Amino acid sequence: MNLTLYDTYTRSLREFEPLSPDEVGLYTCGPTVYDFAHIGNLRTYIFEDLLRRVLEFNGHTVKHVMNITDVGHLVSDADTGEDKMEMGARRTGKTAWEIAEFYAEAFKDDLRHLNIMEPHIWCRATDHIAEQIAEIQCIEANGFTYQTSDGLYFDTARLPNYGYLARLDIEGLEAGTRVDMAEKRNPTDFALWKFSPKDEQRQMEWDSPWGIGFPGWHLECSAMSTKYLSTFFDIHCGGEDHIMVHHPNEIAQTEACHGTRLANYWMHGYFLQLDDTKMAKSVGEFLRLQTMINRGYDPLVYRLFCLSANYRSKLNFNWESIDGTSRQLNRLRLAVYSWGDPGSETDASYITRFTEQVNDDLNLPRALAVTWDLVKSNLPDDVKKATVTAFDRVLGLKLAEWVPEEESVPDDIVALANQRQKARAEKRYPDADTLRDQIIAAGYEIKDTPTGPEVTRKPKAD
Ligand code: AMP
Ligand code: ZN
Repeated sequence: MNLTLYDTYTRSLREFEPLSPDEVGLYTCGPTVYDFAHIGNLRTYIFEDLLRRVLEFNGHTVKHVMNITDVGHLVSDADTGEDKMEMGARRTGKTAWEIAEFYAEAFKDDLRHLNIMEPHIWCRATDHIAEQIAEIQCIEANGFTYQTSDGLYFDTARLPNYGYLARLDIEGLEAGTRVDMAEKRNPTDFALWKFSPKDEQRQMEWDSPWGIGFPGWHLECSAMSTKYLSTFFDIHCGGEDHIMVHHPNEIAQTEACHGTRLANYWMHGYFLQLDDTKMAKSVGEFLRLQTMINRGYDPLVYRLFCLSANYRSKLNFNWESIDGTSRQLNRLRLAVYSWGDPGSETDASYITRFTEQVNDDLNLPRALAVTWDLVKSNLPDDVKKATVTAFDRVLGLKLAEWVPEEESVPDDIVALANQRQKARAEKRYPDADTLRDQIIAAGYEIKDTPTGPEVTRKPKAD
């Protein structure tokens, strides 16, 4: 069954053909580690995790690379303003290096909570300064750079199809532009290397052929994806905001240096919105996964919430929907738990239906509908269990691992059970029955086993 993916570069659904039969190269733009990730960021990583799982479900071996941006991402995408890392350092009173370490670890905790598979390779921008300098030298040698008083820039006018990914109307931009160009030649030009300010010492800076400074943000992804994958690999992903600036610039750098558009497929996850407004780390208050955990939600509730919408549509966050999703996850877990051990056979027709949906550009909402059909079906329990376990390789909800929490039975119920036991021993059967009814009415079950009566909480449907 063919896998079809939506490629932003061609604005079309394309049947997925790996460049090599052995391995699919996947690069996903990682976090800027100056603060915690918000749940919007995490939606993008869940989408990328689903993509990887679907590729693997289809039998591909994936090599997944994710970067950690720990230098060079300025407050404004127009290459002005403070470096977010230096800003984070100022806010917290720690060094930029310390906060990079701290927030990178916090990010990895978030991924673990969401059962997102770890990339095979993590790479940090600050560990790849030499590779970035080499890439700039290559771009410079091919005649695409110019220098200003604050850095070395990419001359986008030299690249005929600059901005194709974004379908940028360059001429319209030039005519209507009111942005502060400073010394830039064109509004879309961007920094490859920024000089350290003359009057202040940056925490993160390096020597280079152009002077002391730091690499521009777009450079790290071109340089590191090329290093770990190649100059033309299978799939490059990020959030929808990257369609306009970051990814066109990654492509421009790679075209200028290697003559390729870096990746064969460009895929983008759409934003999570909070009450219909964009959620951004830089605008104060934001919602973290930990906020949800602190409110008593299992983090996989958020994963299921993201699965219930297509990655190419915006998703609105609100607590009522999260409560609804939490009940759904509970129902699903209880059903799967009640099926006992999996058999050796899955159900072929359900596997086909599920595969059709996930292979249709990751249609997870419909794949979930197939999962609910399976729950309601009359198939034998062990077949259902084996089949849902196969689905869960994509869903990642840890369905087969879940067991109900052992709930301790409160003392007053234990006392009732003891009184019933005594009544039975004294052959006061009507009393024993009344006591049993009281136990059941309180939401517990009592079973007489060879080792004596056993009291348990009645499973709840919701
Ligand atoms: P950052 O840490 O700011 O570099 O962003 C990390 C990732 O999160 C990028 O791929 C962004 O495109 C993505 N992103 C940022 N905001 C949102 C949002 N509200 N919803 C979904 N993805 C987002
Ligand atoms: Zn990137």
